[in-house]
Order: sequence, then C-alpha cells, then structure tokens
Amino acid sequence: MYCIQYQDEIIVIDVGLKFPDDDMLGIDLVIPDATYLVENQDKVKAIFLTHGHEDHIGGLPYVLKQIKAPIYGAALTIGLVKAKLEEHGLLSDQQLNVINDDSIISFEHLSVAFFRTNHSIPDSFGLAVTTPQGVIVQTGDFKFDFTPFGKPSDMAKMAQIGKRGVLALLSDSTNSEKEGFTPSEKIVGDSIRELFLRCEGRILFATFASNVHRLQQVVEAAILCNRKLAVIGRSMEKVFLIGQDLGYIRVPEGMIIDIRDVNKYAADKVVIICTGSQGEPNAALTRIAHGSHRLVEVNPGDTIIYSASPIPGNAKNVYRSIDLLFRAGADVIHGSILDIHASGHGCQEDLKLMLNLMKPKYFIPIHGEHRMLVQHTRLAEQLGVQTQNIFILNIGNVLQVTRDKAQLGANVASGNVFVEGRVVSKVDTGILDQRRKLSKSGLLIVVTTINKNNNQILSGPNIVSRGFVYVRDSGELMRTAERLALRTVGRMIEHKEGTIEDWKERLSAELTTFFFERTEREPMIMPVFMEVST
Ligand SMILES: [Zn+2]
Ligand SMILES: [Zn+2]
Repeated sequence: MYCIQYQDEIIVIDVGLKFPDDDMLGIDLVIPDATYLVENQDKVKAIFLTHGHEDHIGGLPYVLKQIKAPIYGAALTIGLVKAKLEEHGLLSDQQLNVINDDSIISFEHLSVAFFRTNHSIPDSFGLAVTTPQGVIVQTGDFKFDFTPFGKPSDMAKMAQIGKRGVLALLSDSTNSEKEGFTPSEKIVGDSIRELFLRCEGRILFATFASNVHRLQQVVEAAILCNRKLAVIGRSMEKVFLIGQDLGYIRVPEGMIIDIRDVNKYAADKVVIICTGSQGEPNAALTRIAHGSHRLVEVNPGDTIIYSASPIPGNAKNVYRSIDLLFRAGADVIHGSILDIHASGHGCQEDLKLMLNLMKPKYFIPIHGEHRMLVQHTRLAEQLGVQTQNIFILNIGNVLQVTRDKAQLGANVASGNVFVEGRVVSKVDTGILDQRRKLSKSGLLIVVTTINKNNNQILSGPNIVSRGFVYVRDSGELMRTAERLALRTVGRMIEHKEGTIEDWKERLSAELTTFFFERTEREPMIMPVFMEVST
C-alpha cells in the first residue's frame, strides 16, 4: 500500500496482503496497518489499483471496513474486486470505477493518468500522478513483453510521460537480480502447444488462477488437440467465470465439461486445469497428489504440468507433490525442465528500459526483498540517477519530495496486521512466541488444589503433559518435577509469600529451568491452582 499526499489530498495505490511467514503460526493473512488513513479519512480521495493480484487488492475487504473511498481500476481488476467484496458483504456501499488507457482522474491538486504494462495478469497499469511539484510514477508490477499474448504495453505513452519530466519513479524490483529480459509469454504459449501435441494421456495443468492469459493459451492448445476442458479449484473456477464474463477468456460452447464427467472421455481427450501450482495444502492439485481429492485421482500415463515457478518458501511443498505424482506413475513437467512458465516481473534489462523511459530525478525501488531493492538502486545508478537521489523506504517511512529536494519525514503508524479466521488484530509477538513454544515442545499443565480457608495443599501439584515427552517413558522425570513443584509452592505458602499469581510465575520459572536442564526443551508451563473450601 502506497500513499501520495499533497496538502489535504491523499490517494492510495494498491491495498494488498501478504501470506504469513513460516513462523507466524495460526495466522491466515497479513494486511497493512491503515491507522494513518483512518486518522486522515477526510483527506483520502481515492484508492487506485494497478492490477488484480492478491498482493495488490487482497487487503481491501479489511481496510474498507476502516476507511471509505471510491476505488479505481481497470475492468478485470474491478471484476475481481467486485467478487471479493461480495464475499465479504461489502459490495453494496462501495463505489467502483473502471478506468482505461485514456482515463484521467483529477482532484483539486492531484491528477492520475494510466499507462498499460505487461504482467502475469491482463489489465495491469502503471500510474502517473501529476502533483503541483511534479509527476510521480508508480509502475505497478511489470515486464516488457514485445510479443505479449494480450495487448502490448504502452511504451509510447511511457516515453511521453518521461519526456515531460518525472520527479520520482517507484518501480517493481522483484527480478532485479536477474540479468537480461524476462522471456515473453509467447515462448510459453509455444511450449504449451508443443507439449499438448506430444501428450498421449490425460493432461493436468496447474498455474496461478489469476494468470488469465496463460489460461487462454491452455484453452487454445486444448482446442488444437481436440481436448475438452475441466476446471477445478475454487479460485480457478471463479476466474473462469469472471474472465469469460468480461471477455478475457474465450471458450467455445460445449468445451468445458463438469469434472464429474471426466471419466466419460478418453484420456487423450481431456485437460484438467487446476489450482495448486504452489503446493498450497488445500489446493486441488495438492489433494490429487496426496490421493485425497474427492473426484480426481492421478493415473499412470497422466501428464501433470506445473506452469509456475515456486515462490521461495513454497518450493518444499511443490516438490513433495511432484514426488507423489511421479510415484503414482504420472509424468510431471515443471519449470526447471521446460519453458512452460515466464515470470510477470521484469529482469534487469526491463528495469533499465523503464528507468530510461522515465528518466526520474528521484528513484524509489519497491516490491521486493531488501537485497532486490539494493540491486535495483545499482541499476539506477548505472543509468545516471544520482546516489543521493535514491531512497530505499521501509514500511511507515515518509519521503517528502519537492521540485528540488527529497528527504525523509517523520514516520507514520505502520506495520503488519494479522488476520486469523474472523479476527483482525495488531501484531502481538507474545502470542506468536507462545505458539512457537507450544508447537516445538508442547504444554505442561501443573494442577494444584488448595484449601481456600487456610491455603493448605490438598492435592498435587500434578503435571499433565500435552505434546511434551512421552510420559510413560519419563515417569521419573515427571515425578522429580512434581516434587520440585511441591517444594516451590509449599515454601511460598508456608512463608505467606505473594499471591496465587506470584506462585504461578515462580512455578513456571523453576519448572522451565528444570526441564531445560534435563531435556534441552522448553515446553510451555501452565500452572493452575484450584481453590476449594472444605
Ligand atoms: Zn502482480
Ligand atoms: Zn505484486
């Protein structure tokens, strides 16, 4: 989420979400902190969306519960947002506006124009925001594809914007470490076609549901080979509906068949297109690989195509599925074997081309890990942007830019907000710590019953283990721990030290040390005192 503010006007660019890191146990989604916008609601004029990927629109349902603003985006982007808001019951009071190549949206001080780019989803646009101090360009996610599947990127308009002068450029850094140009979607199309022509059995094709052009290439390859098409996976089915509705996916009448009817067709007459290219635990292909899909099982002779490269962090899951599919006798084609995927993000030459077209005075690399941002700054320096005019920003940083100066201002409230099921809350590292401990070493509950009237211990302390060492094999360890607990509590009661809360704290500390010394593990310790009056 980026904001451009001039005096009392704020426009927001993209409201995305992140998927949690491995150590964020129990967290479903991570969304941006909108506190600054809530505090300045009266200044927020609009939200602009560069394209329809989750990391650019996924946070909307949560942020729109906190702020109100009209939304602007291209047709497919708005189509996807509509479906998303409908799911969250937010559609009725939200103003959605479709923009195109020629739109200009003007406010009192700011005005926004759009230039078409190529990316792994159609209808991706960069923004040129005219301010009284100069033009700020935000590229969105992009690559330059000279033989794209859909419309080409509008280089003439980019050159025009650059020629008029760009004060600051914010540009996608995802592939800044990779040399050359990003391969064209056409190469992928050719590979898909060749592969389909070669396959004699059933084909299962997995890719990102949002990669609408890729889906259309699959449709066309299937037509060429006289195969019917079955679509599985919730997000894939949704995109097929929205895509066909808006004319981005064109499928001949009668070509799509119900997945339940797949077995009525010969193996070489079917393509199953599915989610799960990232090994996501609940996605269709993952279930199929694990033999737990309700309707589809993999057979010897099937060819499974992964048309996506695993996002770092997902690789292990992807390769686990691939192994299982091979074990089931299928053939698996994935990115490292053939050109069946091309990234939607520009490599170094694409990024240089953008820098050359825009010739910005100030440069801010965005969208990438820190090392990618650093690499992108080096490219900018090579092309003549002055080192002191380049800024790597962290979440919450404010860059104050005027015609002749740029400097960091005071930070605004920022950070990650966690979504767990229906609960949305600010980061509480304490809770995450507890979960990590629990998942690593389990839980020990220490139950002590005391007489409320005279604080005599009536029974216990007894230790109950959940997920810690196998109790039957460690009776001695547990008994020693219980004796230690009894001594600790007994002493505090005898000397009338502190309250029950203090006893709990002391008990936790003593037992944590004890178990760490004996087992080198740190189970979570939960002391419970039951008070009874006799
Ligand atoms: Zn994207
Ligand atoms: Zn992105």
